[in-house]
Amino acid sequence: MILVVNCGSSSLKFALFDNKLNEVVKGIFERIGVSNSFSEFKINGNDDKYEQDYKTHKDALIFLFEKFKMYNINVDDIEIIGHRIVHGGNNSNNLLVDDVVLKQMELVNELAPLHNPVQMSVVNACIELFPNIKNSLSFDTAFHHSLPDYAYTYGLPVELAEKYLIRRYGFHGLSHEYILEEYAKTANKNESELNLITCHLGSGCSVCAIKNGKSVDNSMGFTPLEGLLMGTRVGDLDASVPLFIARKENLTLDQVDNLLNKKSGLVGMTGMTNIDMREVLYLADYPVSNFDGSYLNEKYNFDELTLLKKRCKLAVDVFVYRVKKYIGSYYAILGRVDAIIFTAGIGERSEIIRSLIMKDLPFTDNVNIEVIKTNEEKMIAEEALKFIK
Ligand code: ADP
Repeated sequence: MILVVNCGSSSLKFALFDNKLNEVVKGIFERIGVSNSFSEFKINGNDDKYEQDYKTHKDALIFLFEKFKMYNINVDDIEIIGHRIVHGGNNSNNLLVDDVVLKQMELVNELAPLHNPVQMSVVNACIELFPNIKNSLSFDTAFHHSLPDYAYTYGLPVELAEKYLIRRYGFHGLSHEYILEEYAKTANKNESELNLITCHLGSGCSVCAIKNGKSVDNSMGFTPLEGLLMGTRVGDLDASVPLFIARKENLTLDQVDNLLNKKSGLVGMTGMTNIDMREVLYLADYPVSNFDGSYLNEKYNFDELTLLKKRCKLAVDVFVYRVKKYIGSYYAILGRVDAIIFTAGIGERSEIIRSLIMKDLPFTDNVNIEVIKTNEEKMIAEEALKFIK
């Protein structure tokens, strides 16, 4: 069996697959190291929830294996743990973990300080807790290794770019690659024949241009901050703006980092504390199926609601406009486009966002517009499986 783990700073998503890549159990630990932590297990059609104090990701892993045993899963059958790692540096493939790989990944940590250190600490915890199980790393950047140099190079002084490995890497690669594979299967085509524009619209958002089955551009850059408007990330921005704000507001570099990554995007533009795109759409007077947002009318007074509605309308407009602009530019790069495919929370479930993006988009006569559910965990399991076969 293959266990897949995908960690954020306070979360750990997991999925266990058999060697035919059927999912046995999946779930999530949330609020690790924060108060009121809990975990959820989806198994045999049930949703089981456990409230327990997990101080570290290691505590969560110990609990996970205990629960597997409780569910009569033979943990000795787990041959490999596939880890999702946001930044893979210059690696174009997934890797089987050994001492050399661990050393190499230490150098990559500083390229993605918000993601990689915690994810690699979980790899180390797995090695310590389960010495008989192999570990593999699947990178969000790997699929974009095929970007041509003119797409990944910034107009920075070459010495600095080379010294610090500053370039556009692109992210969400596991999702974009999964969508390519799934589309190729359903269209009964070889991946190498396909030109696609894949739009991963979730809490984080990115668009990918795929030419002859290879990624040739991605809206995310050196970090997952560049490109589309996201839940809390600013996306494309004149680099002078953070400098200007830092000078005016006397901010430290860490504060600016936090501002652009955690306090901007839809959160920043609307002033809402937590972003659910359905709430934004509801307040912007768009229809949202299976969602009753009437509680929002009671949450705010008349003046607050008037202001919020105006901001939400603009936020939706900016969100949609940005995706449209990327799709247009990727048309220009690809020449021929076989399909535009939407995926992830917003891309899969929001009919209205998709139709606003596609509205009046030219050249779509011979283009398939599709929705495909992403499954990054399955992609990681597929990659890990190659190391145990
Ligand atoms: P994550 O990156 O956390 O895995 P998801 O892919 O689950 O994110 O996407 C989360 C986003 O999808 C949230 O902004 C959520 O509000 C949005 N979302 C979920 N369902 C809908 C829906 N029916 N309509 C619009 N947005 C939705």
